[in-house]
Amino acid sequence: MTPTQAFIEKSGHCTAPNYKPLPVVLERAHGVWAWDVEGKKYLDMMSAYSAVSLGHAHPRIIKALCQQAQQLAVCSRAYHAAPLLPFIEKLCAITGQDLALPMNTGAEAVETAIKAARRWGYQVKGIPENKAEIIVAKENFHGRTTTIISFSSEPSYQAGFGPLTPGFKIIPFGDAAALEAAITPNTCAFLVEPIQGEAGIIVPPAGYLKQVRATCTAQNVLMILDEVQSGLGRTGRMFAYEHAEVKPDGLILGKALGGGVMAVSAFLASREVLSLLTPGSHGSTFGGNPLAAAVGLEALKIIEDERLAERSASLGAYFMEQLKAIKSPAIKAIRGQGLWIGLELDPSIMPARLASEQLLAKGLLTKETHERTLRFAPPLVITKEELDYGLSIIVSLF
Ligand SMILES: *Cc1c(COP(=O)(O)O)cnc(C)c1O
Repeated sequence: MTPTQAFIEKSGHCTAPNYKPLPVVLERAHGVWAWDVEGKKYLDMMSAYSAVSLGHAHPRIIKALCQQAQQLAVCSRAYHAAPLLPFIEKLCAITGQDLALPMNTGAEAVETAIKAARRWGYQVKGIPENKAEIIVAKENFHGRTTTIISFSSEPSYQAGFGPLTPGFKIIPFGDAAALEAAITPNTCAFLVEPIQGEAGIIVPPAGYLKQVRATCTAQNVLMILDEVQSGLGRTGRMFAYEHAEVKPDGLILGKALGGGVMAVSAFLASREVLSLLTPGSHGSTFGGNPLAAAVGLEALKIIEDERLAERSASLGAYFMEQLKAIKSPAIKAIRGQGLWIGLELDPSIMPARLASEQLLAKGLLTKETHERTLRFAPPLVITKEELDYGLSIIVSLF
């Protein structure tokens, strides 16, 4: 039995089985590279679902983390803490939103958005008590809390977890007319990913977000974008909505905001919306802690300083072109934006799980989503040479 097999067997005895990891035991990582317990080296083209967009152990992140850890790490929001203000100011500046509310995980920031939208629905729009509706898209992914899974269209996310939270309506993704038809006087918000990540990196038709924006404005409905995975440079712009030249009323960020070392998320919105979350209405012990604030601020600065969105755009276009040049009956579709690409496979020829296991064996980390799509989302700091190395492995699979 290899050390890897021994580890996996042992871990099966005491770890809850809510994940089915690929058969590798990682030990350390730096930049775009990771090493397992047997010393084998891998190119990371997963980036922990974009949480590691800056690469592993970015020197500036590690420096900010260590300095702040020695200074003041956690003090709760019972007090003001010096590092929080510059982080919040930076968040508001790059998003153009008025107010920011820091949380930890993406799901918590989505929950924050739901609460803020409902409050706005009652206190500003005048929706009768307990009647507020939020419209969401089919095949959405917004996290795993009980309320969030309540509006998932994926049965395995819900089975055995009822009763579910009411107040959500599901419409097809990418269909602006369906949104128009679904809105009622009780609709407070439309919550959507600009590009659906977990669904398989689904890019909506051109003009979709612009039409959504127009409909939301005309119907007095908040347009809330979940950019937890698509945001912070991943798609070739700082935020995916910039491709559509729209501005959302609420914006949810996470994953890469933690610089690849911790969970940092935020919900941002206009003063009209977020000023309604008055003292006592919402909170989080760890949300916006000094350590998270220092790391989050540094992450935002690095994305700007290293022009990671631009890198993502140019390398992503190159990557897409190279993938499209692969001729194989196993490949059904290639889609994405920037360094965020989904390769849809014909599962009768090559199931995506098998493909990700074969890529793993060849030294490339990726992960299937929904049996048929392979996702490629390398750290945005990847060089063209490193990307070419990854491409050579991908090409060898077909
Ligand atoms: C990952 C993800 C979330 C949930 O984030 P967690 O940190 O896992 O709670 C929410 N929305 C989107 C679009 C995501 O990709």
